[in-house]
Amino acid sequence: MSKNHRKNKTIQTDLDDRIRRVSYDNEALEPYINNEYQCLTCGTVGKSNPITSFCFVCDADNWTVV
Ligand SMILES: [Zn+2]
Repeated sequence: MSKNHRKNKTIQTDLDDRIRRVSYDNEALEPYINNEYQCLTCGTVGKSNPITSFCFVCDADNWTVV
């Protein structure tokens, strides 16, 4: 196993942990829908946090126009 492979695996695990935590934090919120934007971190299209405007799924501010 290459060093790079291990590093990628760690990033994926971190993202999974983050997504779980964010879904718990956002439990009481309804996402703001705007299907013109996609999150480059987790691939979600169009769901942002109505308060912060960060990704509703992973809480990144990493949007691109679809
Ligand atoms: Zn995301």
